[in-house]
Amino acid sequence: MRFDTIIHGGTIVTAADVVRADVGIRNGRIVTIADRLTGGDVAIDAGGRFVLPGGVDAHCHLDQPEPPDAPADAPVMADDFRSGSASAAFGGTTTLMSFCVQHKGGSLTAAVDDYHRRADDQSVIDYGFHLILTDPTPQVLGQELPALIRRGHTSLKLYMTYESLRLTDTQLLDVFEVARAEKAIVLVHAENHELLVWITERLEAQGRTAPYAHALSRPSPLESEATHRAVTLVEIAGVPMVVVHISGGEPLEEVRRARARGVTVFAETCPHYLTLTAEALSAPGMLGAKCICSPPLRDDNAQAGLWRGIEDGTVDVFNSDHAPYRFDGQGKLSAGANAPFSKIANGMPGLETRMPILFSEGVVKGRIDLSRFVALTASNNAKLYGLHPRKGTIAVGADADLALWDPEKRVVIRNQSLHSNCDYTPYEGMEVQGWPQTVMSRGVVVVQDGELKVAPGHGRFLEQGPSSAWGSGDRIKSWV
Ligand SMILES: [Zn+2]
Repeated sequence: MRFDTIIHGGTIVTAADVVRADVGIRNGRIVTIADRLTGGDVAIDAGGRFVLPGGVDAHCHLDQPEPPDAPADAPVMADDFRSGSASAAFGGTTTLMSFCVQHKGGSLTAAVDDYHRRADDQSVIDYGFHLILTDPTPQVLGQELPALIRRGHTSLKLYMTYESLRLTDTQLLDVFEVARAEKAIVLVHAENHELLVWITERLEAQGRTAPYAHALSRPSPLESEATHRAVTLVEIAGVPMVVVHISGGEPLEEVRRARARGVTVFAETCPHYLTLTAEALSAPGMLGAKCICSPPLRDDNAQAGLWRGIEDGTVDVFNSDHAPYRFDGQGKLSAGANAPFSKIANGMPGLETRMPILFSEGVVKGRIDLSRFVALTASNNAKLYGLHPRKGTIAVGADADLALWDPEKRVVIRNQSLHSNCDYTPYEGMEVQGWPQTVMSRGVVVVQDGELKVAPGHGRFLEQGPSSAWGSGDRIKSWV
């Protein structure tokens, strides 16, 4: 048999197995996995490294437009599909899922068309869109949303906070009803909005507006409460949910309890919640603004709870929540050099560092094994968001999206070595062990030895199939 490319001399890791074998690639797909292969036009020597499925980062924000009525100085995202996808690839990620936002008063379908224009011919890796639904009008719920789900947008993100994005409980139920009928999966940002606004007003009245007060304004119980409420709503409506960016062990406990009684709910956490604490917000001057995100960074105890969830299987997916705002210019501090915390743009960059951080802190430190690493960074995302087995695994028939991973390579993270357009990384100076040497997308080398090898536009849009969460039948019960 002839192959376009053979990868030999590596150890293949999937979510199920670790095996020494060669990979044969033809027309962008994996066509053979065998002991020893010959007959490739190109032969890549993995040199004893790990051959991993390219990462699937199912939570990143790229080129996300502000609402049309936003002020002229509203923060602007630092990364578009071009820079964002490149930075993802340099860190071993070969599929990204970004968020297409509907603005209140606007059409969801028009937002999808606009977002396609932003992504077309820009990305170096394959990409899909989750839909952010902010205005569930009868037109959107009755016509646009069902049509878009059938066109392959099978995952919807919904917010319980942020004034311009949030839905009421009733609106959430209305969306869940459509998601159930059309077999979509929902992603929920769970924080109690009224509670955090109430606390914020009191902090501001006391003059406590510095970045550190952001963490005080959104304490863990308000995340736990909203998580519990979101679980209750999806349990009643009968729809699978991913609770995104869980920040500590307490809200994670709500997921554990829900699952124990049979609710179909999944848990996501992110690199920053495992490696940083609210201390980062008390950096001198306004530097703490760099680490403002929501839910906020917490403490050692919250981290320990998350690691337990990663070790015992409660956490399903590990994503960056890449939301890049520059520290200079029209980013974090676009509302002013001394803006109160409530006016500072939320989010931080993380696409490129996501896999190295979990490998280093998880695998190298002996908390998880290689297969669990692959499940968390690739396979589970592909399954939940309807991209498996094309993405997220190494199998005959799958796209040849691969990361040849050097488990010994030590890197001190410096923003100047990263490829995002953001002007900082929250991990500046952190040493990690493990970094990809070669990254391939559909059989094409995208990154090799620190160099980008493809032009923007190599990446293609991915239509999603139904989420694995729906299983094969009527497994998910509804109370209505
Ligand atoms: Zn996000």
